[in-house]
Amino acid sequence: MNALAKPLDKARLLADLVAGKYPDARGRFGPFGGRYVPETLIPAVERLERGVRAHLHAPDFQAEFSGQLRSWVGRPTALTYAARLSALWGARVWLKREDLAHTGAHKINNAIGQALLAKRLGAKRIVAETGAGQHGVASAAACARLGLPCTVYMGAIDMERQAPNVGRMRLLGATVVPVTSGDQTLRAAIDEAMRAWVADPTDTFYLLGSAVGPHPYPYLVRELQAVIGREAREQMLASAGALPDAVVACVGGGSNSIGAFHAFVPDAQVEILGIEAGGRGSGLGDNAATVSYGTPGVLHGAYSMLLQNDDGQIQETHSVSAGLDYPGVGPEHALLAATGRVQYSSAGDAEALAAVETLSRQEGILPALESAHALVGAQRWARANQGRTVLVCLSGRGDKDMATLLQMLVKPGQA
Ligand SMILES: *Cc1c(COP(=O)(O)O)cnc(C)c1O
Repeated sequence: MNALAKPLDKARLLADLVAGKYPDARGRFGPFGGRYVPETLIPAVERLERGVRAHLHAPDFQAEFSGQLRSWVGRPTALTYAARLSALWGARVWLKREDLAHTGAHKINNAIGQALLAKRLGAKRIVAETGAGQHGVASAAACARLGLPCTVYMGAIDMERQAPNVGRMRLLGATVVPVTSGDQTLRAAIDEAMRAWVADPTDTFYLLGSAVGPHPYPYLVRELQAVIGREAREQMLASAGALPDAVVACVGGGSNSIGAFHAFVPDAQVEILGIEAGGRGSGLGDNAATVSYGTPGVLHGAYSMLLQNDDGQIQETHSVSAGLDYPGVGPEHALLAATGRVQYSSAGDAEALAAVETLSRQEGILPALESAHALVGAQRWARANQGRTVLVCLSGRGDKDMATLLQMLVKPGQA
């Protein structure tokens, strides 16, 4: 189990990573990843793996996926030069605008991609999990678009905290099922969705929301989100005339970041920075900075980094941003961190809130609280790299965060 007991040959892992060799045939990213699932789930994940292999890179599937991205999601999303922010920070700042994608974030790229794959595989219904509700909304929208029935499992506590998104999912025709087991939040919802999948693996497709879970999900989600970095790389070359010196994205489960990073991994001169949720501090339970503060272990079917205590019990996490509030991270990020190809650090709640205000006032763009973490990382980088160029993945828009923002940012008398 403890694959890290052997010292890692980092140079070889990095060379293989850059050469695009991961995941390997066993679904591993070096020592990370794999398929740690109960025996009852093995036929379902193997069936999915065969489906991914047969369809994902087939020209007709890719044509259908690109068509939906163009005409329904609104891709390519814009690349925006942030002129006033650049003047303020002393570095050239470019924003990849996933906030302009349909339903307001990058999650829709993955949701429509997996829903299309489900149809190809003959699935009759979709199950999905959701924490903050954003992946539930994206899944419900994608299923409506393709005429697939959709059931979203959501922790009972999250349903209360994220009532507007529950309403959105229902309007989009999804059935939202409250999960009252376990921690009654995202972790329990994932367990419940997996249970529904096991119960009916041929007719049910599990639409997983981030680059986590057993193989082939981390690979599948990366391939569907890689459009972000592919577009951004081309747009940078066309608009700025060069690659950026650094690429920055926020890391929750790790899907917008792996999507933004993937095309740049072979560009050795491009620094890559992943920014996690530093919450209110470095103590266990005070943040969701899994790579920064976690240790290796198994969660939701993959060997990766996670926030656990000395007995291996998963810890409660905290972040002002619901979308980053998860104790695990995708296995490819664990490898990117171990090889040093990506630098991971964290941004705290207060810093992220300040960054929301800064981008809103400087550029007229209200970012999601998650995306604001990436802005904090970009600002830090800019301080040490005056005059150079940074590309920020703006994963989503902040409208969904209005309740939190009004509570925390608008001072009494200012309303
Ligand atoms: C869900 C979400 C995230 C975090 O998820 P990843 O899988 O790490 O990308 C980041 N930004 C926004 C806007 C989100 O909705």
